Amino acid sequence: MSSNFVDVLVIGGGVIGLAIAKNFAAKGHEVIVLEKENTFGSVTSSRNSGVIHAGVYYDKDSMKAKFCADGNRRMYEYCQKFNVPHINTGKFIVATSSNGNLLSTTSLQVANEDSIVDFASSLDCRNASFS
Ligand SMILES: Cc1cc2nc3c(=O)[nH]c(=O)nc-3n(C[C@H](O)[C@H](O)[C@H](O)COP(=O)(O)OP(=O)(O)OC[C@H]3O[C@@H](n4cnc5c(N)ncnc54)[C@H](O)[C@@H]3O)c2cc1C
Repeated sequence: MSSNFVDVLVIGGGVIGLAIAKNFAAKGHEVIVLEKENTFGSVTSSRNSGVIHAGVYYDKDSMKAKFCADGNRRMYEYCQKFNVPHINTGKFIVATSSNGNLLSTTSLQVANEDSIVDFASSLDCRNASFS
């Protein structure tokens, strides 16, 4: 790098910008991340709900569904490899009537009635809000 040039300039140090920067740096490129706040990851990336999404709500053949499912798998692999604390709780998507269609995606298992009852009875719950 000369004094006025850099291989890669990433604007924005959220999770996406940092991931892009990390990948370029790992390939030997000189990278600068420009962040307008005082530190990285302080905007949307620090305010999310902490969920590793499965991509089940996107259209089945969309790029969002494909990348989200792939990213989900790779995120769990990464967490395991680098001992990042995480919990894979699983998720029930419930039908409130018997004529509802099940979401159609390869990453979902159909829960049988017993597993739903087991799950519900395992909840340690004293109070709940409903909206
Ligand atoms: C309420 C909420 C809950 C969410 N929950 C989840 C969740 O549970 N799981 C999940 O996977 N995703 C969740 N998301 C989505 C996830 O948080 C975002 O998709 C992700 O953080 C976006 O990262 P980013 O790097 O694109 O954006 P950001 O984190 O916003 O990063 C962009 C960065 O660019 C900087 N920037 C902007 N303009 C400039 C400029 N001109 N010059 C320099 N820097 C600049 C900003 O300061 C910021 O730091 C949630 C989002 C919201 C809003």
